[in-house]
Amino acid sequence: MAGHELLQAAVLAWYDATARDFPWRRTRDPYAILVSEFMSQQTQIARVLERYDRWLARWPTAQALAAATPAEVLTEWVGLGYNQRALRLREACVIVARDGWPGDSVGLRALPGVGPYTAAAVASFAFGERVAAVDTNVRRVAARWGADPAALLPATRHADWNQAAMELGARVCTARAPRCGECPAASWCPSRGAVRPAPRATPSSRPRFEETDRWARGRVIAALAAGDGLPSRIAPQRLERVLAGLERDGLIERDGPTVGLPGAPR
Ligand code: SF4
Repeated sequence: MAGHELLQAAVLAWYDATARDFPWRRTRDPYAILVSEFMSQQTQIARVLERYDRWLARWPTAQALAAATPAEVLTEWVGLGYNQRALRLREACVIVARDGWPGDSVGLRALPGVGPYTAAAVASFAFGERVAAVDTNVRRVAARWGADPAALLPATRHADWNQAAMELGARVCTARAPRCGECPAASWCPSRGAVRPAPRATPSSRPRFEETDRWARGRVIAALAAGDGLPSRIAPQRLERVLAGLERDGLIERDGPTVGLPGAPR
């Protein structure tokens, strides 16, 4: 695709007119943006929105989060899932509290739990670095345009462009059923009208969530965070396997029969 200016202008105009108002889009504080990116990695936006303000009220800065214990951080994270993210976020803030913020996306990538996308997003939204933040949505949209995501970045408004491209992939150019009739990029898109809706995965081929170890891990962390001890609904053999995995990942500590969140008073 040659000459991206008209496409960029159309997508940015669509974004200006329709963007969802998220609290992390109203700030350039790298900590507030980092928290939003960690929370959003594997959790739906609606659930992140329920928890985000409370998190920032409790720990408004990287220094404040660095001073919290892992147990406190895991307890606040309950319900967001994939609990290791909470520990990595805290570890990243320990480094930031000690050394200050890295100045760019390359430096950010050295922080625990920060991959290329998260580093680029924080650098773009907080520092104004001209770098493409390429998440799954942007990768898919760019592929449908037959373009390299990095080459699409405009000369100005690049942070808005990153948000706009993600928003387009999340709301219009979706994986299963792109809505080309509503798409601001349709005039320039070689895939317009040509993407076949993907069939849904058959639910019967997947185990029920309650049968997965991910569910059991979440139950154990939630029960320990609530001070309830270990959940009784999980069969002993399964519980032992789950506890071993949690201990390996640093999410719990065991001392004989005593199990607790890391750093929690016993
Ligand atoms: S025209 Fe269709 S396939 Fe192309 S970017 Fe828009 S929604 Fe996606």
